[in-house]
Amino acid sequence: MAGDQKGLEETLDPEDWETMRRLSYRIVDDAIEHLRSVRDRPVWQQMPAEVLDGYQEGVPEAPEPLEKTYDLITKNLLPYSLGNIHPRYWMWYMGSGSYAGALAEFLAAIDGSNVGGGNMAASEMDRQVVGWLKEMMGFPTSASGTLVSGGTMANLIALNVARNANAGVDLRRESISSMPQPQRFYASDQAHSCHGKALGVLGLGENALQKIRSDSRTCRIDLSALATAVSEDRSNGVMPACVIATAGSVNSGAIDDLTAIAEFCEREGLWFHIDGCIGALVRIAPRNRHLVEGLERADSVALDPHKWLHVPFEAGCVIIRDAELHRRTFSVTAEYLEEFERGIAPKEYLHAYNIQTSRGFRALKVWMTLRHYGVEKLGRLIDQNISQAAYLRDMIVASNDLELMAPVLLNIVCFRFRTDNHSEDELRHINTEIMLRLQEKGIAAPSDTTIAGRHCLRVAIVNHRTRKDDLDLLVAEVRRIGTEIIAEGAIDQLEKGTP
Ligand SMILES: *Cc1c(COP(=O)(O)O)cnc(C)c1O
Repeated sequence: MAGDQKGLEETLDPEDWETMRRLSYRIVDDAIEHLRSVRDRPVWQQMPAEVLDGYQEGVPEAPEPLEKTYDLITKNLLPYSLGNIHPRYWMWYMGSGSYAGALAEFLAAIDGSNVGGGNMAASEMDRQVVGWLKEMMGFPTSASGTLVSGGTMANLIALNVARNANAGVDLRRESISSMPQPQRFYASDQAHSCHGKALGVLGLGENALQKIRSDSRTCRIDLSALATAVSEDRSNGVMPACVIATAGSVNSGAIDDLTAIAEFCEREGLWFHIDGCIGALVRIAPRNRHLVEGLERADSVALDPHKWLHVPFEAGCVIIRDAELHRRTFSVTAEYLEEFERGIAPKEYLHAYNIQTSRGFRALKVWMTLRHYGVEKLGRLIDQNISQAAYLRDMIVASNDLELMAPVLLNIVCFRFRTDNHSEDELRHINTEIMLRLQEKGIAAPSDTTIAGRHCLRVAIVNHRTRKDDLDLLVAEVRRIGTEIIAEGAIDQLEKGTP
């Protein structure tokens, strides 16, 4: 406004770059300290009311010195993060970030490119990163791929290509009601919730996803139940289109029999998609890569560099074997998006493989992660998490007040505190309370889940900072808090009082 009044032209560049430089150095110093001391802080802490109030403030009309803005971040943001950079964070399933990844986020913004496509280094880096991930997954160079926000979008893109490939009509132009037969997709009852959502978005409806029962011991898809479902659909006029195999389930880390499913899909002429958001990267882990044998046979794979590669959020990737089918699903021609042999416009736009038009420069943080740490070390860290899960399992099996609730197949451990004197319902209350106290006291962050109808704690070790003594502490604290809760007596009243 001031500039406007004086008739001056304005810019967002600082008036004084030296002040900005000094503040930037301070931010880097603080950032390094923040990461270096992460182990000494609680995993998580509740925001006080005054911090919450700050997030109710209205639109800032007037400018504020960046130093003051940064103070708000150090006071009201950084102490109250989700906690996943902490060594004892094992909730849900996510990576713990890295300093190289953080620097990459900054540098990507400094470069500032929109990576929808163009004749620029960022496009080449994007193609190179997709090429590296293809190679890491064992796919041929002729395959295509694209970086996306995460696994949900990666799966959506793959299922979109699969739907169009098998529709029998041109679904870029026609509606799904013009398909000769309704399509069916198949996945185990352990599959991630994003697949149902994707089929909803794709207009097929969540009912187009047939959940196939999983083996109660291994939690893998039951192959004979799959074959029966496919043949029944065929005789009922429904068109089987795609099998979604899970390589690493969220509940227990189960990996479907990928080789058997590859053969089944070949025989039946079905699209073979793998949701490898958890397990695909196990292919780079020297001691465990055999677990995902058959991965390279899929028609499409979704993977998540923001999980086991610890790339800062967001970074997902989808790889499609048949690049032409991929392009046919998303490429557009528009007069304002012409392709040239010379100048800035590209020979081929990267958004030809993606739903988005403008795209962030997320390739840089994957590129920097892979180059700086190297695939060998990143693979060893995956092995390390898997052996830590086995270590925790062994401690649980050896103790009489802890119960293992599912086989430990990868890096996910499901268990509960138990006594002989409490019902299933009471155990659910005790273990929920253990989980909440661990979180609220900032000791550790497990989540909970239900396995075969029984409630339990769930520890997913996707964390390059976790050490075995963190798991020792977890076990000790679960027992201490479990005993404490029983001693308080509230659980026994529960049975009599509330329903
Ligand atoms: C995390 C996950 C997803 C979803 O990925 P986002 O990156 O959270 O979008 C899908 N499938 C599986 C098996 C997952 O673990």
